[in-house]
Amino acid sequence: MKFIIGNWKMNGNLAEKEAMFKALKNVKTNNKVIICLPFTLLYDNKYKTIIGAQDISQYSNGAYTGDISGEMLKDAGAEYVIVGHSERRFYHNETNDIVKAKAVVAIKNNLIPIICVGETDEEHHAGRTMSVVKKMVLESVPDDGEYIIAYEPRWAIGKGITPTPEEITAVHETIFKTLHSIHKEKTPILYGGSVKSDNASEISELPHVDGLLIGGASLKPETFLPIINSVK
Ligand code: PEP
Repeated sequence: MKFIIGNWKMNGNLAEKEAMFKALKNVKTNNKVIICLPFTLLYDNKYKTIIGAQDISQYSNGAYTGDISGEMLKDAGAEYVIVGHSERRFYHNETNDIVKAKAVVAIKNNLIPIICVGETDEEHHAGRTMSVVKKMVLESVPDDGEYIIAYEPRWAIGKGITPTPEEITAVHETIFKTLHSIHKEKTPILYGGSVKSDNASEISELPHVDGLLIGGASLKPETFLPIINSVK
């Protein structure tokens, strides 16, 4: 079983959610399809698609204007939550410490955090990918509980470019070994960054790739369904 997780980012309205969820009802797959929606679309999941959120407050309910707590996400029907997406790390200055705190809160609220890690273009070109990713994993994961790691090279997200299969394999192996060193070798490791229907199958079959995290191509049934159908 592979994970195929859509990340709608700050996109989508009720009509688009309805259209996607209706289309997903007729898809036959042995894999686990999840859509991480904007907060505004989480409630009223009558189609039974597994849903996740894209962020969570590190605090419990209370005086934190604009934040959304783990308890609220659970109440709204979320089962998963993305934490530490590179856009949150970059635009909202989220550090590994904050990401870890969010993952801990998610687990406390029976949500599975999808913890994102990945190097910048500069780090990639400087040959620092492995050390950067290893440090991000070790500093961002909670001490206990179940979670998912998503390797998302920042230079590949939304750019139409991906690392080579060899590069993806090497990074996923590093992540696997890192998780092994903390006795978390059963943790699923996903790849994300410019996944489309023409590369999804190949990437999903690489060693230590347990699924895909998909941004742009998850927004419409005509681009998302071919990806789901192509992953065995
Ligand atoms: C993402 O931002 O999580 C992502 C994978 O984006 P895209 O597929 O659009 O590169």
